[in-house]
Amino acid sequence: MGSLPFTVSGLQTSSTGGRSSPTLLCTPLMGTTVDQMLIEMQKAKEIGSDVVEIRLDCLRNFNPRPDLEFLVKQSPLPTLVTYRPVWEGGQYEGDETKRQDALRLAMELGADYIDVELEVAHDFNSSIYGKKPENFKVIVSSHNFHNTPSAEAIGNLVARIQATGADIVKIATTALDITDCARIFQITVHSQVPTIGIVMGERGLISRLLSPKFGGYLTYGALEAGAISAPGQPTAKDLLDLYNFRLIRPDTTVYGIIGKPVGHSKSPLLFNAAFKSVGLNAVYVHYLVDDVKKFFDTYSSPDWAGCSCTIPHKEAALKCMNEIDPIAKKIGAINNIVRRPDGTLTAFNTDYIGAISAIEDGLRGLNGKHPAAGSPLAGKLFVVLGAGGAGKSLAYGAAQKGARVVVANRTFERAKELADKVGGQAMTLAEVDNFHPEEGMVLANTTSVGMKPKIDEAPISKQSLKHYCLVFDAIYTPKDTRLLREARETGAVIVYGTEMLIRQGFEQYKNFTGLPAPEDLFRQLMEKHA
Ligand code: NAP
Repeated sequence: MGSLPFTVSGLQTSSTGGRSSPTLLCTPLMGTTVDQMLIEMQKAKEIGSDVVEIRLDCLRNFNPRPDLEFLVKQSPLPTLVTYRPVWEGGQYEGDETKRQDALRLAMELGADYIDVELEVAHDFNSSIYGKKPENFKVIVSSHNFHNTPSAEAIGNLVARIQATGADIVKIATTALDITDCARIFQITVHSQVPTIGIVMGERGLISRLLSPKFGGYLTYGALEAGAISAPGQPTAKDLLDLYNFRLIRPDTTVYGIIGKPVGHSKSPLLFNAAFKSVGLNAVYVHYLVDDVKKFFDTYSSPDWAGCSCTIPHKEAALKCMNEIDPIAKKIGAINNIVRRPDGTLTAFNTDYIGAISAIEDGLRGLNGKHPAAGSPLAGKLFVVLGAGGAGKSLAYGAAQKGARVVVANRTFERAKELADKVGGQAMTLAEVDNFHPEEGMVLANTTSVGMKPKIDEAPISKQSLKHYCLVFDAIYTPKDTRLLREARETGAVIVYGTEMLIRQGFEQYKNFTGLPAPEDLFRQLMEKHA
């Protein structure tokens, strides 16, 4: 698919109650009894939802008139009543006439919305013609649990839904790839009728998070992580607190982290809190990406302003870039991508900057009040343990600062290859214990030796640590590794892997926004959520 024209002009940016986003947040109630649903309604209100969806098909002993009267009247929030049959992905298996009678009753009893399936919408809407209360709205919905059809097919579907007399169009499809969301965005952003566009599944997450940006009428947020009414549904709490849902507008800039898997990443937490703290009109999301090129080709307008990049895309993403920071190019891996206003992509590797700057600061602390100008790494003997991704970042970064680099690795060939590239010396990991041509060397562990769960291991002996003035460990689980504990006991300055992690985040923030990172906030959040 080629790039899509994400025209966002002409959309309402603000309407109701001082909220920036006019998109409603609806929480489905999945309780099996009326009493449970009553409790859920209160919770939804406390969390900050706008609407509750009463899923009648979840109720075990549903007694239409008393139950609906109670639920609709007691609800502290506007109500959307849905009675989803099995043939549309719901739980109701009974008589169709009774089902539709219940929906009509909900309307008469004061529900604000009902959701009726496209298959029966024509007849249903005819049956209530001229009887609809003021402000009551019918959502006509279509669910596709297999895929997301072509833009043309979705367009035809919208036309069919509109032809039934729907007040609100709802289309829910299934994401096989994150780029499927783009076709739903095209529909919601251009639709003349209020439209709910949802792409179900983990790959469809951005269709839900970014619905305020693309003019969606409503999005669904679950009460709890385990209580979702459709695959891929985020919680209402995450929408509001993690992704700043209320602040997303049509002109909001979008950042994110591409990876697979990616849901575990804490980056959205850090970046969204940082954006909010300075009032930046931007959001940072999780992008579960299978095909990096397709992703960049599809989300290609300047609004998609950049992303962080994690496993397994750090190398594949290189091929999609227009410009690559020279060191990142040498390292052969990128983790930070910025889209320039002209649409081109520039990539950086902030891992090496994060690690090297932390080590430099550690050395400056050692040099006292009047550290020498330039990098304190210049001329130092810098021993890198490991020759993988992190090893390359450290070796190139240190060499660039003028250090004399030694690479020691379990597999000698990999040490040799990296050492040759940075103009350094290679050895096996086993040789490092007896390597001390001088005192005051710098040691950087980038092997995974000592990482959880094998926290009792260390890559070199304690005895040999006395020749180093500073020891850095890239491992951050645990923060205090055996290597760092022993180095501290030996008298060396120590630099934690968490410091590399957090500083690479600062660099990404600077590259994205051109602003200094709110470092204290990042540190507090890392501490709290580590
Ligand atoms: P990688 O590319 O897979 O490289 C792993 C390195 O560890 C290789 O040099 C490998 O040696 C060595 N190694 C693995 N098991 C070993 C063992 N039992 N004995 C000796 N050497 C062993 O991994 P990576 O991405 O560079 O990550 C390495 C570590 O750095 C991980 O703990 C990771 O969490 C950490 N890291 C931290 C940050 C941060 O921000 N703090 C960033 C990136 C990575 P061979 O070549 O012989 O296999």
